[in-house]
Amino acid sequence: GSIIGIIGGGQLGRMLAMAAAQLGYKVHIYAPEADSPAAEVSAFFTRGAYEDEAALARFAASVDVVTYEFENIPVAPLAALAARARLHPSPRALEIAQDRLAEKEFAVSLGGRPAPFAAVDSLEDLKAALDRIGTPAVLKTRRMGYDGKGQARLRTPADAEDAIEALGGAPAVLERFVAFHAEFSILLCRAASGETILWDAPRNTHIGGILDRSEAPAGIDLAPAIAEAADLAIKVADALDYVGVLTLEFFASADGPVFNEMAPRVHNSGHWTIEGAATSQFENHIRAICGLPLGATTLTAPKVEMTNLIGADADTWPDILSDPAAHLHLYGKGEGRAGRKMGHVTRLFR
Ligand code: ATP
Ligand code: MG
Ligand code: MG
Repeated sequence: GSIIGIIGGGQLGRMLAMAAAQLGYKVHIYAPEADSPAAEVSAFFTRGAYEDEAALARFAASVDVVTYEFENIPVAPLAALAARARLHPSPRALEIAQDRLAEKEFAVSLGGRPAPFAAVDSLEDLKAALDRIGTPAVLKTRRMGYDGKGQARLRTPADAEDAIEALGGAPAVLERFVAFHAEFSILLCRAASGETILWDAPRNTHIGGILDRSEAPAGIDLAPAIAEAADLAIKVADALDYVGVLTLEFFASADGPVFNEMAPRVHNSGHWTIEGAATSQFENHIRAICGLPLGATTLTAPKVEMTNLIGADADTWPDILSDPAAHLHLYGKGEGRAGRKMGHVTRLFR
């Protein structure tokens, strides 16, 4: 059988590996951690740094196709790897998505509408940006941010110095705070042929910058915003000749969908598709990168809800397990640390 290489060892890699196994593939994980949720369920594991071009090349030579589940891999070694191995999605998608400035500019170039934004490399830049964009606003590091980390909110221009300090002076983007009534994401999967399928867009709720809950379908009130956002997501996928699952996050505002960010990978807001859709985001990603036909994305219940299990709450697991509507997923992270995604639960409502 063929071997799929996955760069990154988190829960996304774990769920990709489980979907790959169902289709008869073996998985080889490449990750810097000694043990990881993905390596635990995979046939092969190489421990290596993301920057180690030689080790990545050996890894790529040992597998039939390579994908990644982590956004912050340096692009240069991946681009070198792409010259020799089948790599999906392309390093270009990663390069854009790992830089908030590049991803906003890219979305704008395709007709997308992010919140008003400006590049900020200094306190002077920030003051000028605040003059133009106003407050409330949020300053975000261009790179490496996730789960709301690397962000500082500004209620008034007087918060400028604190915000620069909070980000440690890292290259950043200032964006206007959006008065949204809801958040949603577009989840699509594109095959090498260009065939593109979309799941029902989930309505997402964040607490403290971390995804708490995704619900599908999102509700009729969001239908026009979702239609416009889906058009943009398809344009993004086509422009990148994208292969695999792509996610775009949006705010639903009075002026329509506001583009937030994109992820060149399976996404936390798509975990509900494991039980809630005919084919999950993980399975369709595997199908796409292996050149298999894509599967249907139809909902399996009228309403599906996914809730993240954050931190140590093992006390709640017996209750979840006794709920016939609930499906418990644990990532095997052991010790629950505050703020860590330990698992998720999906409930189907009929
Ligand atoms: P992820 O884990 O999704 O990659 P992230 O660290 O990249 O998160 P963002 O998606 O930029 O962070 O922001 C996290 C959340 O903070 C958003 O989903 C939203 O709830 C809130 N938020 C971020 N930017 C804005 C904004 N400009 N206006 C209003 N809310 C915002
Ligand atoms: Mg992000
Ligand atoms: Mg986000």
